[in-house]
Amino acid sequence: MVICYLGIGANLGNRRKNIEEAIKKIKELKQTKVLKVSRLIQTKPVGGPSGQPDFLNAALKIQTRITPLNLLKELKTIEKELGRVKTVRNGPRTIDLDILFYGNKIIQSKVLTVPHPRMFAREFVLKPLAEVI
Ligand code: AMP
Repeated sequence: MVICYLGIGANLGNRRKNIEEAIKKIKELKQTKVLKVSRLIQTKPVGGPSGQPDFLNAALKIQTRITPLNLLKELKTIEKELGRVKTVRNGPRTIDLDILFYGNKIIQSKVLTVPHPRMFAREFVLKPLAEVI
């Protein structure tokens, strides 16, 4: 089992419900246990088109046997199920799921970079993460 931290963000539709649904689906993943869930915090969008709604963000501490690439796949499936439609980079989204840390692994592949490269300067990641770490 590996301890892993996930970031969640939503700024479209019923943001709270989208995040709660995503957490429910993560709890249902095989070989995975959700250990801690942060509070939801509201944050201003960083980058992307101007005028987009504020985000709600949360972080999770999980324990899993799913490999990093398969975990990424599972998270993308959940994003799709929750109706995420790809638009512009950093644009509004119903749900965004990121792998922040996967144990102490350093991963640099085409599809997956862990620790998440854009997390360190971002209060909307660090604040909820600090609650579950
Ligand atoms: P985003 O638009 O923020 O959801 O970025 C999605 C893409 O980022 C995915 O298709 C992943 O392949 C890639 N990606 C790279 N590193 C990560 C990571 N640590 N967690 C989630 N997605 C990642």
